[in-house]
Amino acid sequence: MTTLETLQGDITTLDVDAIVNAANTSLMGGGGVDGAIHRAAGPDLVRECMGLGGCKTGQAKMTKGYQLKARHVIHTVGPVWHGGDANEPVLLRSCYENSLKLAAEAGLQSMAFPCISTGVYRFPADEAARIAIATVREFTANPSSLQRVIFCCFSTEDQERYERLLQP
Ligand code: ADP
Repeated sequence: MTTLETLQGDITTLDVDAIVNAANTSLMGGGGVDGAIHRAAGPDLVRECMGLGGCKTGQAKMTKGYQLKARHVIHTVGPVWHGGDANEPVLLRSCYENSLKLAAEAGLQSMAFPCISTGVYRFPADEAARIAIATVREFTANPSSLQRVIFCCFSTEDQERYERLLQP
């Protein structure tokens, strides 16, 4: 059984096996949660990222966590919202699915997601949260190493949204 939880706060402070980074295709750091993760992890993170050759939208790649409490960072690239007809929902779903797959393949027990694509990439928050929850629920319906999946929301509004959508 995997428990799905919400938290309001800074994902860089979490003591979990992996935090997920809403990265960009370069994997070289950026603004928002990406910048916060790189600052907290220290310069060794970008050094490892340099060797990864970037990441396509919807895909995911894993690194160590360096100075973070989290043991690993799973970098995934969310879609930029272009109005909804450019495959954005499918790509966002892939981000969650591929991140979960990487975590399970590595035998991780706990991981935390930020609200991927809902910042500067402008994906509508409600639809993004529905996709996030549905994808995690479907993946964790099958047994895996994952015991805890946390939706780490930066705003109270996002946390309330996730709590509402997680009600049975
Ligand atoms: P994207 O480019 O995928 O839209 P952003 O970083 O701009 O990525 O925003 C994604 C989400 O991450 C937003 O909901 C934003 O509020 C949130 N966020 C920003 N900083 C942090 C942080 N330190 N911890 C958790 N979430 C964060």
